[in-house]
Amino acid sequence: MIWYRPDVVKVRCPECLAPIWVRESIAQWAPVTCPECHTALEVISLNPPVLDYLQAGIDHDDSDHSIPPATGAS
Ligand SMILES: [Zn+2]
Repeated sequence: MIWYRPDVVKVRCPECLAPIWVRESIAQWAPVTCPECHTALEVISLNPPVLDYLQAGIDHDDSDHSIPPATGAS
């Protein structure tokens, strides 16, 4: 049995417009790095997937980012 339909879809890098293939089942807000210009991107929309620049500081639902402690400047 041969699967003709690849489970990937083509999206476009907003920086260099290079085609990037991502899994069709990619999650929203999943980080993607452009293989051409190495720009940090993320999936901002699904069906079809759309990439935009990764916006640091926006906490979607991952708790990997730790808030730096407030520096008490004397
Ligand atoms: Zn790019």
